Order: sequence, then structure tokens, then C-alpha cells
Amino acid sequence: MFEFKILYEDGNARVCKMIIGSKSVETPLFLPVATKGTVKLITWKELEEIGYKAIITNALIMYFKPGLDVIERFGSIHKFFGFNGIIFTDSGGFQMIRQGFLEKISENYAIFKSPFDNSKHKISPEFSIEIQKRLKSDVMLTLDICPEYTKDYEKIKKATMLTIEWAKRCKTVAKDSTLFGIIQGGIFKDLREYCTRELIKLDFDGYAIGGLSIGEPKEVMYDILKFNVNLLPKDKPRYFMGLGSAEDILKCISLGIDIFDSAFPTRNARHDTAYTFHGKIIINRAKYKYDTRPLEEGCNCFTCRNYTRAYLHHLSKVNEFLYKRLLTIHNLFFLKRLLDETKKAIRQGYFDEILKEMNIR
Ligand SMILES: [Zn+2]
Repeated sequence: MFEFKILYEDGNARVCKMIIGSKSVETPLFLPVATKGTVKLITWKELEEIGYKAIITNALIMYFKPGLDVIERFGSIHKFFGFNGIIFTDSGGFQMIRQGFLEKISENYAIFKSPFDNSKHKISPEFSIEIQKRLKSDVMLTLDICPEYTKDYEKIKKATMLTIEWAKRCKTVAKDSTLFGIIQGGIFKDLREYCTRELIKLDFDGYAIGGLSIGEPKEVMYDILKFNVNLLPKDKPRYFMGLGSAEDILKCISLGIDIFDSAFPTRNARHDTAYTFHGKIIINRAKYKYDTRPLEEGCNCFTCRNYTRAYLHHLSKVNEFLYKRLLTIHNLFFLKRLLDETKKAIRQGYFDEILKEMNIR
């Protein structure tokens, strides 16, 4: 059972409730990324304590390793992970633009190469859904064709047409399971519009906007995103894949996006960067050597309650990896706080002020 209710609106921004079976979560929602089965450097319990109720993992990677036979012994991906929240599974379409993953695409299937042992696997849209069903995914995604960023219209047109065909095939076998359709079309508005209209006809539970934030100029990305969001039905969740900075998330929320995922906050934590309401802190910089303050004054995360910038700076200088974990915890806490503040602002009708404060137009 899947339900989606709009609770509050402020301009195009909205707070909604998404109910999936016995689980529910509010949007705007950020999904930490657990591609290989873990959100890097943080435990499920820590994530839950911060307030994350949903994550996204990658069905294709789970199929390669540990393999469905291992996960099915546990009954579900939730039991295998030890995480009881909502699990979205990406189909693997995005892996097509990752170096070395994709061997070949034909009308009927894609052939992927496992990065773990170089074995080759034929994945059809139907089989992609079967994998996600066998994992007991809460929210599945269609197998789409995500080409690299290009201005080559014919190339994108071909990928878009096949994405639509594959979306139909995914929908046919998904039956009652929750399934979001992924829209492609590159930077071409007519293709975006055609793909969106065709996918709406299939009546998915939600719509993901794919094929953006993959190397195109930012202003082009926003132009296409805005165009694409406006074509979507209001009463279904809208998911923008692959964006994770505070500024981008707020801007997307102002356009009407509900769900995000990105490795951005966790990846940058491992590269010495912490995010705060007053900008970013690159902790290995000399200016933090004597800094007795926490990463962010007033932040109630485990890291800020217990550690100073000077100590984190020291750990980074002597290559003690604990600081990467501590920055990961802070960054995810920061993003959760940002979304909580955003929800409050939308509920009370002052979301514009948050945008102004963060300098977002
Ligand atoms: Zn903190």
C-alpha cells in the first residue's frame, strides 16, 4: 500500500506524508546513500538516532554482492542490513555512466559487469524488478537508460524512447509493489516532456527526475529541472536524484521537489569538509589549529557535543580516521536539521525567508 498526502504548501514548496505499508515518513526527505550496503562510516543506529527513517541502496550492487541467495536467507534486505526503516532501491540505470559497469545495451536488456569479479550479467527491466522484489525493497525504481551528459540529441532521444519502453515493462511486472518511474530526456525539453507524459500514463507511485546533475552547467540543470517538475502531477512524490548540497536542496524544494539522495554530505566529510549554517569548514586548514569551538555552535550532534575544531583538525593532520566519522555524523545531522527547519518554515509560511537567509534565488 502506498499513499501520499500533501500536508502544507508554501509557494511550490510542500510538506507531505508518504505511507508505505506500515511505515511512514514526511517529505522533504533526504536519503543517505548506502550503495554497497552501508552509509559510509556511520551505523544504522546512529542514523536512526539522528532521525533518518529512509535510505537508498543499489539493487544491482546487492545482486552482484553479497547476492540474492545470501539476502534471501534473512528474508529481506532490512533484516540483512539490520535497518528497519524505509529502503529505496536504485535499479542500476545510473551505474551505466560509471566507468566499467556497462558492457552493452540492446532493446531487451543491459549487460553489466560486476566490479567485484568482472563477471557479466544480463539485466532486463523485468529482471531488475525481480531483484528489487526479492530484496523486499520498500520503494523500487524503474530500470532506465542514463547516458552521459551530451548535447547529442539523437543519442538522448534513443535512450529516452528505450527508457519509456523499459518503464512500461517494469510497471507490468511490479504489480502492487511501490514503484517510481525515472524520467530521462537529457537537456532537451521536448524529450523531457514526451518522457514525462508517457510515464504519467503508466501511473507510477512517484516520479524520479534522472539524467541531470551529471556534468551539465548548473543553470541548464535548473532550467530543465524547473520545466520538468511543472509537468508532474501534484499528488505524487517528486524525487530528484543525485543532489546533496544545502543550497541545491533548498532551491529544489522551492521548485516543488520532495525527495533527494546524494553521497555529497558523507563523501565530503571524508574529504575534510563539514557543513554549517554559516558556510563550510575545511577542517585541515591551519586556522582551526587553536579553535576551541565545536564545528557549529548550537549544533546538538554527537560530534559537536563532544569534540572541538582543534581536536578534529589535529586528527586530520595526523591521519587518524576518526575525524572522518565524526564529520560524517555532523554533516548528516546538519542536513536533517536543515530539513526540519525547512519543514517548519513551510508549515508556518515563511520558507521564502530561509531562501533569503541562505542567499538562494
Ligand atoms: Zn554538529
